[in-house]
Amino acid sequence: MKAFTYVNATTEKEAVAALSPSTRDALTSGQPAARSGHQASSVPMAGGMDLLGLMKDYIVSPDRIVSIKGLDQTIAAGDGGLHIGAAVKIADLAEHAAARKMYPALVTAAEGVGTPQIRNMGTVGGNIMQRPRCWYFRNEEFNCLKKGGSRCFAVEGENQFHAIFGDGPCHIVHPSSLAVPVIAYGGKFRVVGPNGAREIDAGEFFQLPNANLYGETVLQPNEIITHVILPAPGQRSAAYEVRFKQSHDWPLAAASVNLVMSGATVKSARIVMGAVAPIPWRVQAAERVLAGKTITDAIATEAANAAVAGARPMSGNKYKIQIAKTAVKRAILAASRA
Ligand SMILES: Cc1cc2nc3c(=O)[nH]c(=O)nc-3n(C[C@H](O)[C@H](O)[C@H](O)COP(=O)(O)OP(=O)(O)OC[C@H]3O[C@@H](n4cnc5c(N)ncnc54)[C@H](O)[C@@H]3O)c2cc1C
Repeated sequence: MKAFTYVNATTEKEAVAALSPSTRDALTSGQPAARSGHQASSVPMAGGMDLLGLMKDYIVSPDRIVSIKGLDQTIAAGDGGLHIGAAVKIADLAEHAAARKMYPALVTAAEGVGTPQIRNMGTVGGNIMQRPRCWYFRNEEFNCLKKGGSRCFAVEGENQFHAIFGDGPCHIVHPSSLAVPVIAYGGKFRVVGPNGAREIDAGEFFQLPNANLYGETVLQPNEIITHVILPAPGQRSAAYEVRFKQSHDWPLAAASVNLVMSGATVKSARIVMGAVAPIPWRVQAAERVLAGKTITDAIATEAANAAVAGARPMSGNKYKIQIAKTAVKRAILAASRA
């Protein structure tokens, strides 16, 4: 691993200053942290679960690491919902009573992340900002599109865990289990950077490869997420994830459903799929199927069919269509019973 300097930031201001090469205390090597992440000279670290792996594999070689795990670690009520500090541990989110009551889809997703050790070290912000798991991206031997190369090796290679939506040219799937329900709940991210603080709709935060090939989000250099802001949820919500094995792995497909009800009738729905596209994949066609209906098995099946109607599988991942369909149907049925 390349040698690096380490800064322990205790406030947002310190974190932004330490990340920004324009400050007096800046890096002498001086390049701004690139959007791509893998070129960044100065990067934030929370639990380090993902970042240190990327560094050991020489995918990211920063000159400076800025620890932000000491920033806000609280979950507080606000605006009818919850404000979750980005430094909150995934385990603490999973065990938080108000989060469990208000946002069962988010807590289900948090409970499913990795292993107890990973949930105890990994933070909410780090989970949302973790880089893709694509084995070509993670392998230093493959100079893939995301690392400035000229091809996506998954197209002709091993693509059984890759995207069935999104149309490339890079076929990663978005890895964060938590981002999927955050979008289903209509959440926002508060971010701070050299130009101050701003809030970004979670649904607008992630970017497809054709908009941002080297990164995955709209975050600008030296910006960090400080909070996840969740509005009041609908009356019923749930998540369902399908995994190859019960722990130690990411879902093959996931779905989060958030329903605003009028009695037994769905007034409006938000349905988001995970692990099927380079970004969490909201499926408004499926949401329209539910609007104005009482949920039955047949309606849930119709919505699940609509959710995967546009899928374009690769050579080795057609099986994911059925799995994604099952995840959506079961999440809808679980929400209807919640
Ligand atoms: C075996 C295994 C199984 C796993 N299974 C799952 C799973 O099922 N679902 C799932 O979602 N994840 C899974 N993970 C991933 C794990 O949840 C993440 O690695 C972890 O959440 C990262 O959190 P962290 O705080 O350690 O992030 P770090 O490693 O510290 O950071 C990750 C990235 O985000 C950046 N970053 C960190 N915090 C911020 C911030 N606040 N603002 C901006 N950028 C930031 C860092 O620079 C880095 O690039 C698994 C991991 C392992 C090893």
